[in-house]
This record gives sequence, C-alpha cells and structure tokens, in this order.
Amino acid sequence: MLSEELHVTHPIPDTALPENLYAVDSHLQLALKRRYGQDYEGCQRADAYLQEWGGVVSRQLEPLTWDADRNTPELKQFNRRGQRVDELVFHPAYHEIGRLAYSYGLAAMANRAGFRGWERPAPQVLKNCALYLHSQVEGSVACPISMTDVLARVLNKFASPEIRERFVPRLTSTDYGTLYTGAMFMTEKTGGSDVGATTTTARRNGDWWELQGDKWFCSNVGADLILTLARPEGAPEGTRGLGLFLVPRNLPDGTRNSYVINRLKDKLGTRAMASGEVTLQGAKAYLIEPLERGFAMMMEMVNGTRIGSGVAGAGSLRRAFVEAQTHAAERRAFGKTLAEQPLIARTLANLAADSAATTSLMLAASAWDDRAEMPEASRETRVFARLLIALLKRYATSHGVKGAQTAMEIRGGNGYIEDFPNARLLRDAYVQIIWEGGVNMVSFDVLRLLERENGWTIFTNQVQNELANVSAPELHADFADLKMSAENLARQDRETRECAAPALTHAMASFYAALQLAQDAAFAAEHNLATDARTLLENYRRAVLQPSLFTLNQEVQ
Ligand SMILES: Cc1cc2nc3c(=O)[nH]c(=O)nc-3n(C[C@H](O)[C@H](O)[C@H](O)COP(=O)(O)OP(=O)(O)OC[C@H]3O[C@@H](n4cnc5c(N)ncnc54)[C@H](O)[C@@H]3O)c2cc1C
Repeated sequence: MLSEELHVTHPIPDTALPENLYAVDSHLQLALKRRYGQDYEGCQRADAYLQEWGGVVSRQLEPLTWDADRNTPELKQFNRRGQRVDELVFHPAYHEIGRLAYSYGLAAMANRAGFRGWERPAPQVLKNCALYLHSQVEGSVACPISMTDVLARVLNKFASPEIRERFVPRLTSTDYGTLYTGAMFMTEKTGGSDVGATTTTARRNGDWWELQGDKWFCSNVGADLILTLARPEGAPEGTRGLGLFLVPRNLPDGTRNSYVINRLKDKLGTRAMASGEVTLQGAKAYLIEPLERGFAMMMEMVNGTRIGSGVAGAGSLRRAFVEAQTHAAERRAFGKTLAEQPLIARTLANLAADSAATTSLMLAASAWDDRAEMPEASRETRVFARLLIALLKRYATSHGVKGAQTAMEIRGGNGYIEDFPNARLLRDAYVQIIWEGGVNMVSFDVLRLLERENGWTIFTNQVQNELANVSAPELHADFADLKMSAENLARQDRETRECAAPALTHAMASFYAALQLAQDAAFAAEHNLATDARTLLENYRRAVLQPSLFTLNQEVQ
C-alpha cells in the first residue's frame, strides 16, 4: 500500500530543482552573452564553466545544504585539560560545500591568473555568475567565500609585496586543505552603521601592532585572516583616525593569536556558518598602510562584499521564482493547476520579470566593477561603479526577501515547513539586507555619491548613452519622471532628502534594471536569439518600475 501510494500522483508536489541551474536560466545566458560582446572565446569559456558549475550546484551542493543548515556549528572553548582552544566544530556537509565551491574557484578566479589554465584573472562578471548560482542553494558558506574573495582583492590592491606574497596564494587556493579563509570584523557594540565610533585600539610593539577591543558581529569567526579597524593611540576621533589591520589566526611560530571567541550568535538564517563575538586581547596585526587611509581601504572591502550581498539577493530571487514556478505547475486547486489561476499566473510573471531584471542589474554592476578596476579607468567610471554596486545591494537584497516570501506563499502551508526549501530561503535572504549596511545606510551612501561626487550627472549621462541604444519610448518617459522627482528632491532640505533616499534608490535601481532588460531584448533581436526579454520588460515596468516612480513622486511632493 505504502509503495503504491508513492507511485501514484500525489497531491503535494515535491520540490523539483532543475538538474542544472545554469542550463535552465536562459535570461542569464543571454545577458551574459551581451556582457561578453565581441569576446567570443571568453564567452565560450565562461559558458562552459558555468554549465559545469550549474550542474554541480544542483546535483552535489544542494543536497548537502540540508544537513549543514540543521547541524549548526559548535564552539568548543576549552580542551579537556582546561586550556582555551576556541575550536569550531562543523557538520561534514559544511566542509564539503566549501571544498566544492573553493575548488571551483569562487574565491580564486578573479584574484589570480592560472585558474583552470586561464591566462588572466576572471572578470567579476563571471565570478559573480558563479556566486549567483551558488546562492540559489545556500547562503551560509557563500558568506565566507565572498569575504575570502574580497580580502584577496583588497590585499592585492593595498598590501605590501611581503603580505601579498605570503597570503594571497593561500586565500586563492583551490585546495581546501591549504586554503586560508577571510573575514572582516568591523561591527562593534557601539554600532555597525556608525563605524567612526569604533573603540578598538592599536599599539605598536616592535614589528607588530597589538589590538585591544571587542568586535560584536564576526562572521566566519574561525577565519585564518581577519581584516579589521582599530584606532592607534593618539589618532583622531571618527573614521579619520582608524587604521586598517590584518589579523592572522595563527602567528608565524604556529601559536594562536591573542583573541578569544566569547560565544556564537544564535541566528535566524545562515545557520550553518559560525558568526561570533570576539575580544581582541593584544592580538598581533599587520598594518595595511597608509595608516590614515584605513577607513577608505576598508570601504573597498565593504564595497566588494556589498556586491556579494547583491549577488546573493539576486540568487535568492531566482531560486524563489524557480520554486514558485515548478510548484504552481503541479499543485492543483479548484480543478486546475495553480499556474492556470489568473492571479497566480500574474504573480509568477511578476516574479519572472523581477528576477530577470535583477540578474541584468547584477551583471551591469559587475561589468562596471570590472571597468573601474582597469588602470585607465576615469573618476567618472569609478563613481558610476560604486553607485551601481550600492543600487544593486539596496535593490536585490530587499527583492530577494520579497521573492522568497512570495514563493513561500505560493507553496502555501508547506512553504512554512522546514521539509521544503522555502523557509531556509527566506531565513537566509534576510541577512543580506542587514549586513554591510541596511537599506537606509546604503541609500545615504548613494545620496553622498550623487551630491558630493557629481554622481547624479554621471548617472544621467550614462543613462542617456544607453537609452540611445534601444528603441523604447516608454523608458524615455519613465526617465523623464525619475529625473523630475530626483531633481525636485535635490532642491529640498537635508531631512527631506534623507527621508526620501530609500524611495529614490529604489526608483533609480528599478529604472536602470529596466534599461538593462531593454538592451538585452535589443541584443537578442540583433543576434537572432530567442528571448522573452520584451515581455519581461513590459511586466517589470507594470509590476515594479512604475510603482517605484509613483512612490518616489509621492515622497517628494
Ligand atoms: C548574521 C549577521 C552577520 C554579521 N556579520 C558581520 C561581520 O562579519 N562583520 C561585521 O563587521 N559585521 C557583521 N554584521 C553586522 C552588520 O553589518 C550590522 O548589524 C549592520 O551593519 C547594522 O549595524 P547595527 O546592527 O549596529 O545597527 P545600527 O547601526 O544600530 O542601526 C540600526 C538600524 O538603524 C539604521 N540607521 C542607523 N543610522 C541611521 C540614520 N542616521 N538614519 C536612518 N537609519 C539609520 C540602520 O540602517 C539599521 O537598520 C553581521 C550581522 C548579522 C545579523
């Protein structure tokens, strides 16, 4: 009877993750092709790599995520002789996810040549596509991966040759046994937003600096290398007086550095990864020079991990769509499948459009990040890249949560039950909004770029250039609306500008995402590629862009 029941159609559809998350993502493939343009060889290589990785993510990585999430890490503070050890004990599934992801170069490929024999480091565009696929199945190991990747990038950019040579090869190792993972301990009890209030102090002692203080949120707390901020004795208050330091877990003689993990956080999501509270007790650290640019250099790390959060948000949204679509195609109510009910069909169309637009926005931000890293990059290019990264973080992380919530609702009661992936998807998506600055703080950063770095002019010039590539009169009208509201807002007082900043950034991100969809559609038409990008654009304008322009307009009046 039991086996018979298993073989007949069951009223509750199972989760049906596609065999290969890349192969089924035709919009990602199209948008990626557009980004590679004339570089056919690079495009083919990226496509072949993502085909392989997309299969590994679906078939090998996803099944591991259940055990890793359910069996959360433990902190073993003392050994049996009462010595302080602060060891972290993870479920083997956590390590296996890491082993797979690092071996596929997620932290290596963009930071060094030679991965898979490639003669140059991979572009951010490709690395972020790989992280996007990973983020569709889990958010816990994705966090250390992103921090390890960005730490290598920051050291490549700012560290002395000795530090670079010692640590970058370990951070970019594809062998889990020799890999060093990275972390950033920035948030203190005094606050994650107001970094200038940092109380950790630094004191020079011979060749080392020694750090004293408490760090309140430390993800990947067992990392081998930690980037952190501290105030050298006598340095000024605020962010100006903060130096940037690299703290190794183990000292060159093999002994443990002087810091303790007080406890692990009991978190809503990303439960497989250990986030802890740390006290630095004279921890030995390398100074990343120059001392007075500590905060500015740390912002490079924040910028890098912000794009990682945006990519993870885009991944959550895509997975939400996949789950909702596959479930609605099978689940029946009132004699029809859910997908045949007009309101659900509309919801799915909206989700598809939002996911595609967010994917295109992610690729745009990644491509500009690549351009900004070129030695010949202009100041305008660098400002525009920072602007897009902030817009992506603000938009994709909120929409990742919204999408996960919608997908949960479409699965109904089962969506709330931990046997299905929706609950974890929603729990993991939430943190992407909070870390590296919530919506408000990121929106304030955008305001700063617009007002102090000439960002608004740079943004509007770039939009005009891109609008010229597409015949989309409706987007010209949308842009006129956006400009009117934004320029009206710019004339208002500081308080009004701050209060409307989240609406402004939402409208700017939605508009720029729609503009990417329009260019994806134009590219497909020009190259005779099959796409539904035009329909996606229409749905996106109706479901997201127009409401966001309306909200901004209301805020400004
Ligand atoms: C699971 C998890 C892992 C984390 N891992 C790390 C990590 O590895 N390293 C690290 O450094 N940090 C980490 N964080 C900390 C995270 O970056 C901070 O929580 C975040 O930056 C917000 O800081 P806060 O919690 O101190 O909130 P606060 O700074 O107190 O802010 C509270 C809220 O008020 C808003 N706000 C603040 N000022 C203003 C203002 N002027 N106007 C309007 N709104 C304002 C903020 O946006 C926020 O929403 C982690 C957090 C979590 C939850």
